[in-house]
Amino acid sequence: MGTILMPFNLTVQPRDFDLFQGARRIVRRLSDMRGLYTDKEAMERLLAVDDPIIYEFWEVEYEGSDRGLSFGITRIYPGKVGREYHMTRGHFHTTDGDEVYVVMEGQGLLLLQTKEGEAGTIEMIPGHMCYVPARWAHRTVNIGEHDLVFLSIWPPHIEHDYRTVAQSGFAQMVVEGTDGSMVTTNPSFSGA
Ligand code: MN
Repeated sequence: MGTILMPFNLTVQPRDFDLFQGARRIVRRLSDMRGLYTDKEAMERLLAVDDPIIYEFWEVEYEGSDRGLSFGITRIYPGKVGREYHMTRGHFHTTDGDEVYVVMEGQGLLLLQTKEGEAGTIEMIPGHMCYVPARWAHRTVNIGEHDLVFLSIWPPHIEHDYRTVAQSGFAQMVVEGTDGSMVTTNPSFSGA
């Protein structure tokens, strides 16, 4: 995507991002999430029947530019793998650059952690803005019964590191408890 030269507005809805020139739609199915959920048996049991879309996002990204702002919309469908709620893969930014989320629909949790071993969670409900400083890995989790939809905005020079999370996992996980969602320690986590 080149530089946008003219002002514009856009409805923050997936269907409008679908039509926006330069937007790229990316789909993550259950099979793309192998290794990220703790309950491997539940994963294989579900995959034996179907390979549903867990989440999708539409992004308008300036590539190789140090100006402008990249932006995207993410839609995470409700559901669980075992007791663990549907979530994004999660990543670090390898270059210095923060990110902002604005929650449009649904109910979620933002999981955050640093390579130094800090971890945190932030509530995501419509109207919330969530600020993610550069060195914090981020993963979003849909803990509701409906789609979780949010807008994200980030600087264009960021490189995304998905591998560290794929290898080490997240320190915390979000599972169904006796009375709604519950954040617990992830037994599969092998990082700092
Ligand atoms: Mn990011």
